[in-house]
Parts: sequence; structure tokens; C-alpha cells
Amino acid sequence: MARIGFVGLGNMGGPMARNLAKAGHQVAAFDIVPALVARAVEGGAIAVGSAAEAAQGADLVITMLPAGDNVREAWLGPGGNGAGMAAASRPDAILLDCSTIDVPTAREVAMESGRAFLDAPVSGGVMGAEAATLTFMVGGPEAAFAAAEPVLKQMGRAAIHCGGAGAGQAAKACNNMMLAATMIVTCEAFVLAERLGLSHQALFEVASKSSGQSWSLTTYCPVPGPVPGSPANRDYAPGFAASLMLKDLGLAAEAAAFTNAATPMGSRALELYQEFVRQGGGGTDFSGIIRMIRGVT
Ligand code: NAD
Repeated sequence: MARIGFVGLGNMGGPMARNLAKAGHQVAAFDIVPALVARAVEGGAIAVGSAAEAAQGADLVITMLPAGDNVREAWLGPGGNGAGMAAASRPDAILLDCSTIDVPTAREVAMESGRAFLDAPVSGGVMGAEAATLTFMVGGPEAAFAAAEPVLKQMGRAAIHCGGAGAGQAAKACNNMMLAATMIVTCEAFVLAERLGLSHQALFEVASKSSGQSWSLTTYCPVPGPVPGSPANRDYAPGFAASLMLKDLGLAAEAAAFTNAATPMGSRALELYQEFVRQGGGGTDFSGIIRMIRGVT
């Protein structure tokens, strides 16, 4: 059993913290929304009054926050004044940020923290957080990864060490850029099939056994029918909301800009999700972009 500090108890962090308490850890939980702390306590966590308090004395300190600015402020203090969770933590603690943020901020926080710091964004969404089937992509020191891995496996199915500081965020940005582009082109193929008089099922049967095969097709099929569990079968209730996909594409675009990498498909995917969100699709599953592509919103 470890002493774990957990900060950020939202859609993802809430169930992750509850899974750690269920696994027998002593979890000190904090969120700026008191109702979320109360929910974590119902799940077996202990309420604490601040992020710094969650960090104090813990073996492992975890954040699951919305964006890079929240992460920097939580760990390094307001304006980087040093009065954050990193300074409040034990010098031998392992610090772990599971939020999805930009690579430079992940590297900066890791360096400034003065501790063994891991960036460990996740894939798998709210369902994965609840069922403890997340995949963690992790950047940071190898020894810290080895020490944190057993705990990661209690919140998820897989944990992959991707390299040094920021490598987890880099993997997440690359993966989700691929996902967005394959989803859009899968939607385009189904709309084209409709215009050609080819049934959804026929295209699915062929493409799922041919070279057009992808996760977007076989797990998240954007039309109802072929994959009964996909969001298309429940009017595109998320799943993975288009607004979150847009956030991740923004991070990929930023990464492409600062590395001078050419990402023409990723850029186009970003534009299309921007348009979909502008039209009101942000709260629907990202596969719902098929409605915009079909011309019906
Ligand atoms: P969320 O908005 O539901 O939760 C974030 C929580 O952080 C909120 O409860 C908020 O009150 C809290 N918070 C913000 N600032 C704080 C502070 N200074 N101190 C304490 N608590 C603070 O977001 P989420 O859906 O749980 O996502 C969290 C992260 O995980 C994001 O970076 C997101 O991109 C990523 N992610 C989300 C999903 C998903 O499907 N929701 C999937 C993969 C990755």
C-alpha cells in the first residue's frame, strides 16, 4: 500500500482516484470543486484542504488537470513562485502528471520540480478510467517509471515507457493526430459509399478485412450497425468528445510548429474539428463529424 496524493478529481481523475483507493492505497484527494472531493471520499479517499496538502508525505503524487497552465501552477506555484505541490512533496516522492498538455510545459515542469517527475497522459477515456483499462504513455526517468508502473497498472491495462521528459505527451499528440485523420477519412468513405449506393455493412465487411482497416473503423465505426458498441449507435453521445479531440489536435499543431514538422493531414483535421465544434458539435463524440461531412448537422 502506498500513500498517494491525487489532485484533479474530474471526469477522469475521479474514477482513477477511486480505483486507487479500491486497490488499498491511502489516497489524499483534492479538487477545487468540493462536491468532487466528497465523491472521492465516498469512494474511499481521504479529503485534504489543498493541493499542497495532498502532496505532503505522499510516496506518489498524481495530477489530472485540464491544461498546461493548470499543471504548471499546481506543481510550481502561481507564476512559478515555487510554492506548489513539487516543493510540498517529499524529496524522494515520485510525481506524475496524467493530464494531456503540451510537450514544452511537461518538460519545464519536470525540470523545475526537482523531483523524479513523469508525464503520463492516458488513452481510453472516461469508460477506461472507470473500468481501470487506460493506457498510459509515459515520459521521464526509467527508475521512476519502474517504481510507478504497478500503480499505473491499477488504473489501467498498459503503461508504456516512451523516453525522457515529455515523451509521453509527444506520443499522445502523435497518436491522436493519427486518430483524428483516420476518423475523418473513414467518415468520408462511408458518405462516399452512401452516394455510390454501397451499404454501410458491405463497406465495413470489406474494409475491416482489407487495407482500409483501422481502429476508427473496427472499434469506433462512425455509422450505426456494424459495431454495435460504437457511439454512432447512441446518437453520437461520447465516448471521446469532439472538443477534446480539438484540444489534442491543437497540441499536435503546436508541437509540429515548434519542431518544424510537416503535418498537412493533421492541420486539415484540426480545421475540420474547429468547424465541427463551431457548428455546435463539441459535446458530441468525435465520430459525429460524419454529420458535418454528410452536410447535415
Ligand atoms: P475535467 O475538467 O472533468 O477535470 C479536471 C478537474 O481538475 C476538475 O474537476 C477541476 O475542478 C480540477 N482542477 C482544475 N484546476 C485545479 C487545481 N488548481 N487544483 C485542483 N483541482 C483543479 O477534465 P477530464 O475530462 O477529467 O480531463 C482531465 C485531463 O485528461 C485533460 O487534460 C484531458 O485532456 C485529459 N483526457 C481526458 C479524456 C476524457 O475522455 N475526458 C481522455 C483522455 C485524456
